[in-house]
Amino acid sequence: MDAKVRLYVEQPLGQGQAVALTADQAHYLFAVMRLAVGAVVALFNGRDGEWRAEVAEAGKRGGVLVCQAQTRPLLMPPDLWLLFAPIKKARTDFIVEKAVEMGARRILPVQTRHTNSERIRQDRLQAHAVEAAEQCGGTFVPEVAELAALDRLLAGWPADRRILWCDESLMGAAQLLSGGLAGEPRGPWAILIGPEGGFSDQEKARLRAMPQVLAVSLGPRILRADTAAVAALALWQASLGDWRP
Ligand code: SAH
Repeated sequence: MDAKVRLYVEQPLGQGQAVALTADQAHYLFAVMRLAVGAVVALFNGRDGEWRAEVAEAGKRGGVLVCQAQTRPLLMPPDLWLLFAPIKKARTDFIVEKAVEMGARRILPVQTRHTNSERIRQDRLQAHAVEAAEQCGGTFVPEVAELAALDRLLAGWPADRRILWCDESLMGAAQLLSGGLAGEPRGPWAILIGPEGGFSDQEKARLRAMPQVLAVSLGPRILRADTAAVAALALWQASLGDWRP
């Protein structure tokens, strides 16, 4: 029997492993989805792959599932981080959701000089990442980091992690990519998307001076940050990521 419901849990998963449900999970499975003892659920925890589990106990405020067999191994996305300056709530949620679907390993909201949003709700964004993974069949949930200053991140930036800097000032002209990123090395990368207000001159100068940085144009139109994030993720995945062998 195929599982109708995919659920993220924190506990370890393995053959015969019993998983106790929280009140919220029990409510979702038994009240909302109307599952009963004997029903089958797909479980994942971001570490142990996906498991088929059977409902062994179903209560109003709790319940127990028992793992029967692994249905998918853990599939890690490539070592790609997404750095973006948070925007309005709904669009920031969208960026996190899409980054999970597109296969980012880590999501890092960054504070730039012109970033609109001073604060984020990290816990809420992390919950969005979990939901997106549940929905897209992912077995991995990227960490959503706390908001960090771009300056500080760049100051400690690892020498071996390239940065795909989406730079709208390259728009048009001769800067359009021909052949995607095919000539670039695979390995650790990050995508950097700026705020609605764009990058400051100081930020641009700093990025230009870093040997890890590759500045790219995403075409002759100005994209909103959420569109730019999805476009850059697609470009990177198709050239250097898990869209190709
Ligand atoms: N304030 C800017 C637009 C910022 S768009 C302006 O009006 O000029 C938000 C972010 O999306 C940018 O910082 C950049 O990282 C990315 N972006 C949008 N369009 C882009 C393009 N055509 N090429 C490269 N990056 C782009």
